[in-house]
This record gives sequence, structure tokens and C-alpha cells, in this order.
Amino acid sequence: MAQVRLDKVWKVFPGEVEAVKDVELDIRDREFMVLVGPSGCGKSTTLRMVAGLEEITRGDVYIGDRHVNDVPPKNRDIAMVFQNYALYPHMSVYKNMAFGLKLRKYPGEEIDRRVHEAAEILGLTGYLERKPKALSGGQRQRVAVGRAIVRKPAAFLFDEPLSNLDAKLRVQMRTEISKLHTRLNSTMIYVTHDQVEAMTLGDRICVLKDGLIQQVAEPMEIYRNPANKFVAGFIGSPPMNFFDGELEQTPEGLMFNGYDFKLALSSRQAAELQSHAGREVTFGIRPEDIKDAVYASGESEAQQITARVEVVEPMGSETILYLSTERHSFVARVEGTENPGVNQDIKLSLMIDRAHIFDRESEQALI
Ligand code: ATP
Repeated sequence: MAQVRLDKVWKVFPGEVEAVKDVELDIRDREFMVLVGPSGCGKSTTLRMVAGLEEITRGDVYIGDRHVNDVPPKNRDIAMVFQNYALYPHMSVYKNMAFGLKLRKYPGEEIDRRVHEAAEILGLTGYLERKPKALSGGQRQRVAVGRAIVRKPAAFLFDEPLSNLDAKLRVQMRTEISKLHTRLNSTMIYVTHDQVEAMTLGDRICVLKDGLIQQVAEPMEIYRNPANKFVAGFIGSPPMNFFDGELEQTPEGLMFNGYDFKLALSSRQAAELQSHAGREVTFGIRPEDIKDAVYASGESEAQQITARVEVVEPMGSETILYLSTERHSFVARVEGTENPGVNQDIKLSLMIDRAHIFDRESEQALI
């Protein structure tokens, strides 16, 4: 079993820098857990504490059933893949991959078998005698992964392994890492600041901000039911639109009053939000849940607002519209065939039942 457990883990750097605060996280055996968040949120520090590369200020880390706080990195039965690959430049691909096993005094035959097996999995068989400098970025990245695979560790730790690759290669390697997880069927903890990597790779995602866990859930759960405004704005591209306003009780029912437009909430939302009538809130709606009303007739639970088209960005399969009302600016993601003129006023249908309402002050989701 290779579950990894962090129990109330803190990291305080000198100068009272609280990089990781009270992190409670259970990573299940064979799970692909992604730690995601903006720069400085503490994700690398968290991973490095699991790896044993950073001392734990308070709290406990367990790998399998073992308490590992005081276990040196080499005895933790984990393998880490770094952003810069950390390959030995003077060694061949073969020797780079074999190095860790040699240190651990594995028999030559076993080393040879494991290196060839890993090379086969990663498509590196033809490159074993090359030095790292004679490889492309993607191939170097594979060697770094290969060096981890040969160890057959209880868990793999990845620290932004794709961030040095160009956009196309990054997408390709992302798929390869996903396949690798299926094939090796082992526990993986993966750090990234890229929400697309998080969404596509993770069995579950842990979103961090300022050293604090914001939400831990499956990707679609995070996308559909973000716990707060930060998570809502961080996951999804283009990001969710936010409108400040208030909840207003009217004879027609509970409305969101955005000051220059009003939207009737669905009966479900009204029922759940009844006790919050009069409260200052932030209304959140994703760009893909806003349609040009001309093309959206018959949509159920839709509400309309009129806005001016500021910019039209045709992307081929979809078009991104930048829109504004007197008080608000927002973005809609519509079909590629829809192409309204700039400076035109158009009607937009908002899929009201998919909207989110956050408390303005605490920024926690109310629904
Ligand atoms: P990035 O994506 O930029 O790598 P991150 O989310 O991985 O960021 P960490 O590297 O874990 O963030 O850093 C978390 C916080 O701890 C930051 O505020 C950082 O400045 C601080 N920090 C990291 N290492 C040290 C250190 N050795 N001494 C003092 N502060 C540190």
C-alpha cells in the first residue's frame, strides 16, 4: 500500500514565513493527486516535505503505514521528477537511469532488465547510449521519468515536470504521463500551477492558496462546485465572470441585482438562498454558460442581459466575446460560427441554473 498522508503539516521558514499551514491531505493508494495553485502558494514546499527535502516544522507525514518525518529521502521509497530534470550531463541515458539502482547495489542483471523495461515504456530504447545534451527537451524529460520508474517506488512525486517544454510538447507529455499512471498503477503526486494540467491529469485536485488548502475534490466537482471565489476563478479558462451586486427579494421572487441589470434566480437557487436575501454577494458565471440570445432560444432557465460587444476573438471552433454593461465587463465563449459586430449591443442568455453565488465578504460559495 502506498497511500500518503499529511496530518496538520506546517512549514515555517526563517523570518516567520508560513509557507504551508495546517495541511491535511490523504492521498489514496494509486491515486493521481495534483497540487495546484499560483506561484508561492506552498505546493512545492508541500511536495518537498513528502520527499524529505524540506524539514517539517509541525505535523506528520506518512508514506504507507510509515511515519517518515525523520526518515532520510533515500529511504522513503519515493522517486521525484524535477522541473529541470537534474540529469548527469557526463553520463549516457542508460547510466543516468541505472545510477540510482547502482547506488543501492542492485545486481547488474536486474539493473539492465529494469533500464530496458523503462526505456521500452518511454520510447527511449534507441537513445540509451546518448548523452543528455544530444536529446530534445521532451526526451530529457522522459529520461528523468525513466530514472524514477526503474526504482519501482511506492510513490512518484512530480514538481512541475513539464514547465520547461514548449506548448505542443507539454500537451503531448501530459498525455504520456497520464498513460504512465494507468500503466504503472502507482501513487503519484504532481505539482503544477497550470489548471489545465490539473484538470486533465488529476484523479483529485488539491487547490492551494497562501499555504492553505482551499478545496480537495475530483476535477469536475471543482469545476462545477467550487468552494469559494478563488477556486472558481482559478479553475477554468477563460476564467469565471464575477459580478458584484446583492440578493433582492421582489414580488416575483429572489433576484440577483447587479445594479445595471437584474436576474431572476432559479427556483432551486431561490430556495437555497432565501435566508440570504438583502446580502451583498458576488454572482459568478462561466464564459461557456453565456450565449448570444439569438442562437439560444428555447434554453431553459436562461435569463437575458444586454451588453456591448467590445472585442471579438475568433478561435475557429469557438469565439470569445469581450462584453460590457455600464458597470460590468465580462467574457462569453460562444460557437465559432457566431460572430457579432464590434460596438454592437446584443442580448445574452445566461444559464442561470449554472451560476454561482459567493458571499462578498468571506468569498465562500453560498450555492
Ligand atoms: P512556485 O510555483 O513559484 O514554485 P510554490 O507554490 O511552489 O511556488 P513554494 O516554493 O512552496 O511555492 O513557496 C511557498 C512560500 O514559501 C513562498 O512565499 C516562498 O517565497 C517561501 N519560501 C520557499 N522557500 C523558502 C526558503 N528557503 N526560505 C524562505 N522562504 C521560502
